[in-house]
Amino acid sequence: MNIEELLRAPSLDGQFPITFSNGYRVSTIHFECTACKKPAPLKQVSGYISRIVENTVDVRAVMQCPCGLINRYQIRLRNERSYSHLKDGTWIHVTTKTPLHEKVIKYYKFKFHACLLVWKLIMMKRHLNKLQTVLKCIQTSRK
Ligand SMILES: [Zn+2]
Repeated sequence: MNIEELLRAPSLDGQFPITFSNGYRVSTIHFECTACKKPAPLKQVSGYISRIVENTVDVRAVMQCPCGLINRYQIRLRNERSYSHLKDGTWIHVTTKTPLHEKVIKYYKFKFHACLLVWKLIMMKRHLNKLQTVLKCIQTSRK
């Protein structure tokens, strides 16, 4: 896809947020000019979003900066919260951190399962105690 085609493409603000089948949602991408570092809102960036495989989304876009430079972007987003972007012909891989609220949820899920396990063990012990009493009764009645 050449620059002219990408410049004619629709702006990216209508193509976001991107939601993956596992629930991971990318609400926006922060674009900036590679020359003057001026940030560009999505509506200034035009391009295409394509899904070739379920867990990745490819973004090909261009942004014509007021400074005169036409920036070209190629980004691959992945559903496990990482992304790669093409910079001077090399792919740079970036892993984003798990947000705090998800860490908290994971922690409580773990706690919950731990509690459930303890409760199951208590119930099991009760059943064993009952079984032992029954067995004792059987033994004593046999004598
Ligand atoms: Zn610029």
